[in-house]
Amino acid sequence: MPYKMKSSQSVDFLSQSSIDLGFIKDELQKVDRIDPGLRKEVLKNIESVVSSQETDWILKNGTTNLVDYVVYRYKFKNFPRARRLEQFPLHLLLEPTSVCNLRCPMCFQSDSSFHTKEYMGMMDSGFFKSLVDQAVENNCKCLTLASRGEPTLNKDFGKMLEYCKDKFFELKVNTHATVLSERLCYEILDSGVNIVVFSVDSYYKEEYEKIRVGGNFEQVLENIKRFCEIKKRNKTLPKTTTRISGVYLGQGQSKREMLDFWKDIVDVVTFTDVVPRWDTYNNESMNYNTPCDMLWERMYVWYDGTCNPCDFDYKSRLKVGDAKKQLLKDIWTGKPYTKYRKMFLDGMREKLYPCNRCNVY
Ligand code: SF4
Repeated sequence: MPYKMKSSQSVDFLSQSSIDLGFIKDELQKVDRIDPGLRKEVLKNIESVVSSQETDWILKNGTTNLVDYVVYRYKFKNFPRARRLEQFPLHLLLEPTSVCNLRCPMCFQSDSSFHTKEYMGMMDSGFFKSLVDQAVENNCKCLTLASRGEPTLNKDFGKMLEYCKDKFFELKVNTHATVLSERLCYEILDSGVNIVVFSVDSYYKEEYEKIRVGGNFEQVLENIKRFCEIKKRNKTLPKTTTRISGVYLGQGQSKREMLDFWKDIVDVVTFTDVVPRWDTYNNESMNYNTPCDMLWERMYVWYDGTCNPCDFDYKSRLKVGDAKKQLLKDIWTGKPYTKYRKMFLDGMREKLYPCNRCNVY
């Protein structure tokens, strides 16, 4: 039985804080720029909107943007599942590079047919800026710098981060931390990144290096510890949340020991069951007929401008547009996206390749 994955997963913090929901409700009531119907929905669901992740954000960012942030989180958590479409993706993911220096068996980077000129490259920083500008113009609040490759391998990554500063409620970086230099640590922290996700699946060398093929455990541990030390020492830097995100391959990895090892170093530890995404195109048919939330939530832009609904489809069979020729907002509401959404709603997932071989719903 294949593991079935929800397209969004919740995150638990190692130290829990609470926040006064009554205060948030009062603030929501005071602001008249919010559509009354939407306000009513948010108020009714406030407990589920403000969980540990939102509490962490509010405690770190203060109340200046509180109302807009809470409304944004409500949309993020509810609109995709309700098939409510905004005029721009709620979450934009930009790929600084498709190149990676590791060959982890659970990742599509282990597919040798992906390592051709057609798929490999670096995003130009001028192009990156034009994408960020569009996100800001269209009131997008969530940007992730990562996708198919390791973002820190782009030599302009620091400049890219700097350009994003103070433009988003949620700015996220995913990295395996193998080349996380001291300079990069400062660049990430200075730019106000909210969440840094370190992709690490173990707490000891032999297991880590068996999974993260090409990585060196001592080096990665040193890099992550240095990042967390710099963060701790510099009270003036924005409070970035650090998360270890591991993939559970079921080969004797201990979730308990993983948590015990990392809990004193980072803020959050998550362990997600492995999903078959290393060769999506040749998976067996999954026989799912449920729509995929991603089509109502997010858009990926590859280094060369190719836009895609997800990175499970890492060779862009579902390509929805070209950001070098079209505006992102036009791609989001354009023909390919509209067609795919309709196919899902009409129960035709099995006719959409590779959605019929993908276990996200
Ligand atoms: S391949 Fe299809 S079903 Fe899977 S994540 Fe992508 S869009 Fe969703």
